[in-house]
Amino acid sequence: MLGSMMQQPLLVSSLLTHAERHHGEQEIVSRRVEGDLHRYTFAQMASRARRLANALGALGVKPGTRVATLAWNGHRHLELYYAVSGSGAVLHTLNPRLHPDQVTWIADDAEDEVIFFDLSFLPLVEAIAPRARTLRHYIALTDRAHMPAQTRIPNLLCYEDLLATQLDRFEWPVFDENTASSLCYTSGTTGNPKGALYSHRSTVLHTYAIALPDSLSCSARDVILPVVPMFHVNAWGLPYAACMVGAKLVLPGPFLDGKSLHTLFEGEGVTMSAGVPTVWQGLLAHVEANNLGFSTMRRTVIGGSACPPAMMQAFQERYDVDVLHAWGMTEISPLGTACTLKPRQLRLPAQAQLALKSKQGRVVFGVDMKIVGEDGRELPRDGRAAGELLVRGPWVVSRYFKGAGGDPLVDGWFPTGDVATIDADGFMQITDRSKDVIKSGGEWIGSIDLENIAMSHPEVAMAACIAARHPKWDERPLLVVVRKPGSTLDREALLAHFEGRIAKWWTPDDVVFVDAIPLGATGKMLKNKLREQFADHLLQ
Ligand code: ADP
Repeated sequence: MLGSMMQQPLLVSSLLTHAERHHGEQEIVSRRVEGDLHRYTFAQMASRARRLANALGALGVKPGTRVATLAWNGHRHLELYYAVSGSGAVLHTLNPRLHPDQVTWIADDAEDEVIFFDLSFLPLVEAIAPRARTLRHYIALTDRAHMPAQTRIPNLLCYEDLLATQLDRFEWPVFDENTASSLCYTSGTTGNPKGALYSHRSTVLHTYAIALPDSLSCSARDVILPVVPMFHVNAWGLPYAACMVGAKLVLPGPFLDGKSLHTLFEGEGVTMSAGVPTVWQGLLAHVEANNLGFSTMRRTVIGGSACPPAMMQAFQERYDVDVLHAWGMTEISPLGTACTLKPRQLRLPAQAQLALKSKQGRVVFGVDMKIVGEDGRELPRDGRAAGELLVRGPWVVSRYFKGAGGDPLVDGWFPTGDVATIDADGFMQITDRSKDVIKSGGEWIGSIDLENIAMSHPEVAMAACIAARHPKWDERPLLVVVRKPGSTLDREALLAHFEGRIAKWWTPDDVVFVDAIPLGATGKMLKNKLREQFADHLLQ
């Protein structure tokens, strides 16, 4: 027997409609690229999103059209989140930290037709415009007064002009909740970047999940400042959660240094924030150096890379800010686990609680996880056995965009490439990574790209790039190289070879020259052996 409840599709536009109707007066405060603070309400945001939806229609955007953004966390980017997805098109948030060649490759692969960008990214857009194969419209996220006087981009449009000519009447279309809503690329584990194509259904379900109290715990009484960029897995879903619960949203724009963030935290009464460990280093250093504190902030979500226990302790003991350690991936929308303690654990001594909170945490309802050994068999949840972490759930990818890389699933589970333990209470802890990537300051660096560049040097016989531990960035690339016979190639000459070929911050921190790189049975480089040997090289 079927239940007799309404079938209402879960749509991103419903979050906006809800926020406008029930939290219309709630504020959104943005530090704009232009430098000033912009404030308005959810009601005003919703009105501008409708104008934008009309403007998108006028530009020829249709259901399914990919609309790209290169933008910081700001109110105009937020309007795009809702107007693009809400009208049935696909929001593709490009990562501006990548090299122009990679941004072009990704925009081509996604077949982006329209791009909206912050003025800070004008040089990047000028670099990609002559090469991008599918982009038809370029829109600067600014007003007429700030439009660039000169640019190499043909027919550059002005965002505020586009909105000014449109009416705020627009009916958000109702369609299948499985329709694609947004697209994020991840470096993946091998080869080219791959797209995770989220649906309206997966996005709304993920939003419910992150708002839960034992998850990121978002409510109407919160003032949320996502430091995690809106181009990094949709700022972990917080722009959606703010609308769902009616929380005040504070968006920091490009100003992510300790001083700017602290000023915004205090000025706007921020209660909760979220970001990768490296941003908090800058903030803590600033607060410490200037003898400051946090008068309203009570908790911060730290994820993307393992949060160092010392950072947790500093927040907790010195500033009374609770750190919520969370784990996720682009392929999981991104939230998988959050580390909130159970009542019994809250009675443990402080040191034992800290040890638990350093784990990546428990799954949120909706995500199922297990660890498996090399033979694919499930390992016990005893906190000791470590194996590859597999997940499944309604906001986990079932395949990559356009089927790139083939079927990623193993018996219906998504292999994360992380190696972990799970204890009897269900707390997962990452112990290693089987995937071949480097995560520096919360952002990927593709080891394969770096190896290919090293190998293109005429005096390099073999090159492996591995993640080496780093005190500030968590991991940095280290190049291990075998020179060709007779070569006297040195570190400086090899690193000079990387100039202009990659984003500067991708340049390896050091080069180690070796006689041979260990190879496996199939001739593949055994990078885990190199990691064992050189993981601490940059700490020496
Ligand atoms: P995000 O950085 O938003 O979580 P990415 O797709 O860029 O998403 O990166 C996902 C990977 O980052 C994970 O597979 C894992 O290797 C690493 N990661 C994410 N969160 C943590 C964490 N809390 N501790 C350790 N590693 C993490």
